Amino acid sequence: MILSSQLRGEQNVPCLYCAETPSSVEHPLPAALGEFRDAPTLLDRVCKQCNERRIGLLDEQFMRCGPAAPLRKRYGIEGREHHQKVNPFYRGSAGGKPVKFFSWDEAFQCEVLLEVIGSNEARQLTQLILKEQQSGRHHHIPMTPKMTVQALRQEISTLKLTAPLDARLIYDPPTEQWAVNLFQELWPDQPLPDTTVGARNFQGGIMQFETTDRYYRAFAKIGFHYFLTQFREYSGHESIFSAIRDFIIIDDPRGFQPARINEFIAKYQSPLMQPSTGWIGHLTCAEIRGGVCFAHFEPFITQQGRMPGHMIRLGVDPARTDSAMRSHIHLYYITPKAKSGGILEMPWKCRGKSN
Ligand SMILES: [Zn+2]
Repeated sequence: MILSSQLRGEQNVPCLYCAETPSSVEHPLPAALGEFRDAPTLLDRVCKQCNERRIGLLDEQFMRCGPAAPLRKRYGIEGREHHQKVNPFYRGSAGGKPVKFFSWDEAFQCEVLLEVIGSNEARQLTQLILKEQQSGRHHHIPMTPKMTVQALRQEISTLKLTAPLDARLIYDPPTEQWAVNLFQELWPDQPLPDTTVGARNFQGGIMQFETTDRYYRAFAKIGFHYFLTQFREYSGHESIFSAIRDFIIIDDPRGFQPARINEFIAKYQSPLMQPSTGWIGHLTCAEIRGGVCFAHFEPFITQQGRMPGHMIRLGVDPARTDSAMRSHIHLYYITPKAKSGGILEMPWKCRGKSN
């Protein structure tokens, strides 16, 4: 097989992240955000293994454990490829935790966990709520049909609760049977707790996201790869990018290190561009200024709300004295299921201030 890199006369250029031969088409934006016609791609720069496994974990956490997860649900965005369907409100991914969406339930006089099911629509998860009588603290455990009683027990034991406890079981009619069965298996001697069909109307709520460094490394990967699509004079193998390459691909054995993340990533305090007038899109930008190579990424610019933009410091090229900036909006077509979209080149000036 002849690789396109060989056709271009770039034989023996290894993957950006390992010694393997690169053989993939890499889209800087995660596949789960959809397909964008004419979007810039990196050809034969990353090997299949790194693309699917190591980088795949970053994309997975970015898509399923951060604010992108509910936004995808809300706007009905489906992935480019046939990805495994995971409900991010029930299950964590790639080391990140499930998204927790709390709302106050008048009838129960406590917070309950919700999931987003469409635009402005949410419903209660099937869940067990345990209240420590002494402290009054509530703990929420989402329950799924595949959950075993051992897994439920394990989850409860990690909470290190102080008895006595009050229990409440919440379900929808289709989940009633297995939810009740699971509870009876858990505590056969206990009478069935207050079991209730979940409410339908809620006034607002709070979302909590628990991610690891992979979430931020996904920003770094998206920014770095987008930069390489825009400044083709760099292959990405240059030593000025060795630190960002390591940051992207190496899991830090010390765990979550905010100082390390701050070396590369900064969050913008204000939006990077004008508010949306109804469209939904993701802004990517690559920039060289004063010899410093940057990328900027603001996902999910919508009329109702947006995710914060991030700046990614990629490396310093002392030989560069010019300034240049290139950017694109990855814009969704307005369809009932926003699976795909196109790309819009943007003359764009950075407005935001980063911290
Ligand atoms: Zn590789």
